[in-house]
Amino acid sequence: MIEEIRSNFFRVQIPLPNSPLKFLNSYIIRSSERNLIVDTGLNRKECLDAMHSGLQQLGIDLTKTDFFITHLHADHFALLSKLATATSQVFFNRPETELIEASGWWERMLSYAAKNGFPENELREAIRSHPGREFGSEWIPEISVLQDGDQISAGDYCFRCVSTPGHSLGHTCLYEPKKKILVAGDHILIDITPNIQCWTDEQNPLQNYLESLDKVNQMEIDLVLPGHRRLITDHKRRIAELKEHHKTRLSEVLSILANRQLTAFEVASQMTWDLDCDSWQDFPRPQKWFATGEAIAHLRYLERKGLIVKKDKDGMTTFTLNEISTPGSEVG
Ligand SMILES: [Zn+2]
Repeated sequence: MIEEIRSNFFRVQIPLPNSPLKFLNSYIIRSSERNLIVDTGLNRKECLDAMHSGLQQLGIDLTKTDFFITHLHADHFALLSKLATATSQVFFNRPETELIEASGWWERMLSYAAKNGFPENELREAIRSHPGREFGSEWIPEISVLQDGDQISAGDYCFRCVSTPGHSLGHTCLYEPKKKILVAGDHILIDITPNIQCWTDEQNPLQNYLESLDKVNQMEIDLVLPGHRRLITDHKRRIAELKEHHKTRLSEVLSILANRQLTAFEVASQMTWDLDCDSWQDFPRPQKWFATGEAIAHLRYLERKGLIVKKDKDGMTTFTLNEISTPGSEVG
């Protein structure tokens, strides 16, 4: 489906088979000089077919097209490898460009997941069926790195990069200040909450995410163009809901830990998830993986606030409430 949102500014819906997200919103700005495509889809036939048909209907010539990718997740990034041409510029953020260049990333995630209680026998399968692995990029085009505040133009649109880490390490939105449009990637979604995962001891992605929400909350925006689902007109209201959601989640994690010492995997198995499954055992493995990453993100936030304590013993990480935390310490 193609929809003209503003003059020469289109949304093309790219199907994501078997994903609760259903579609990726790819945004295409058509111009007599260089076109710009923001986010692409998975590297699989269903996505490529939908993209080709959209490009054809819009009369887009890929040799006159540049790309901006909001973040490294495969549903946004991977199809780029089938679309970028020798003349295309590919704009992307620095933290995730460095991630692409670093090797051994999946292996490090695997051992981190094991340390956090993810059962060894399910690990390889969870990674094998991870959409980022199964439908990832075949090759990475040369990247033009953009930073917070940098500008890129396409047709009548002049965008400013807004760095919004949280959903991913280098997640970046595009803001058109004159038209008050924010191309939001997965920073703000409606109906579903962006997944916040953590897979290292060093990062605190939930803290970053909440700060990024505050940053966008202050901006003058009439229309948010998210990476999935429908467009959002009241960004402040949605941001308030997302902040409330994480506050509730943090309280839930604290109550799960009451009088107990648990791994992140065990905490994840007891959190409430909006999935059509009777029990944690029935969760598809990729969903157990995302849930565990999300549990770690919330545990990390609470640990840095001093509300819980992390214990590393015999290669396993567990968490308990911090009994000496100051009474009345607030979550959120
Ligand atoms: Zn996405």
